Amino acid sequence: MRAVLLKQPKELEVAEIPTPEPQDGELLLKVEACAVCRTDLHILDGELPLVRSSLILGHQIVARVEGWGRRVEGFALGERVGVPWLGWACGTCRYCQMGLENLCERAEFTGYHRQGGYAEYAVADAHFVHRLAEGRAEELAPLLCGGLIGYRAYRMAPGERLGLYGFGSAAHLLAQLARAEGRAVYAFTRPGDHIAQAWARELGVTWAGGSDELPPEPLDAAIVFAPVGALLPQALRAVRPGGVVVAGGIHMSEIPAFPYALLWGERVLRSVANVTREDGREFFAKLNQVAIRPRIRVYPLEQAGQALADLRAGLGVGTAVLVP
Ligand SMILES: [Zn+2]
Ligand SMILES: [Zn+2]
Repeated sequence: MRAVLLKQPKELEVAEIPTPEPQDGELLLKVEACAVCRTDLHILDGELPLVRSSLILGHQIVARVEGWGRRVEGFALGERVGVPWLGWACGTCRYCQMGLENLCERAEFTGYHRQGGYAEYAVADAHFVHRLAEGRAEELAPLLCGGLIGYRAYRMAPGERLGLYGFGSAAHLLAQLARAEGRAVYAFTRPGDHIAQAWARELGVTWAGGSDELPPEPLDAAIVFAPVGALLPQALRAVRPGGVVVAGGIHMSEIPAFPYALLWGERVLRSVANVTREDGREFFAKLNQVAIRPRIRVYPLEQAGQALADLRAGLGVGTAVLVP
């Protein structure tokens, strides 16, 4: 099969490699589409250490079941499934026991510990895939991380007025969900990024502006998706007493020192890490009631490097999706 391999940081290579064999408990999947995530960029750049050689990136996989190993039940050939970032959790550590498998001490992540979806085929643990609706694979793929991890952050950010810092893949999906649920959305982009601000307004946000600006009203909560530590004090400045600021990214530049007054008043600053299967069940059930339309840019698999470069440069709007 064709796959894009990450041999070492910053070195992607399109290669012909053997199609993987599903092991016990695993599905063999024919990849229809795989969306690109900022985490892929952090792995590519070595900001997250490379934990295996010849890694296949990609953890937003939409695929068809093509076969399975032993001890797999209940799947049909051709059935559509999605593979998210949480590829496996142990089920026995104290975090798994508490229902926090997103924090599992032995968790394996797709496109990081386990081979991902920048390829024609992939294998996945049958217990960790989500059954997906029919519809265009390219439009479903961004839901598997931008949507799903975004949703976990969204649940941690209650209240009527929601700020979103960094208007990219996750934020444009959440803005639609928040609007459908009757919340007012405030979109913060790079200062001067009028294209992203116009895009946010098209999606019905109440206000859009630069991340260096304050919103017209204090926010109940804010989620910071941009990997910029300086935005955390800025978001604290924008939320009311008792408000919550959630950091939604896996990697962020250093947070500058800030006056205690920004946290005072029972404001909460927290991160959200990874995702549980329960988040997925809840999120995909919600999508049966609320239609979310991802904006996408489709690239052929061979152009994975270009898709990542465009994401880094902040070029164009919408989520990059690779199609083998
Ligand atoms: Zn991701
Ligand atoms: Zn565990």
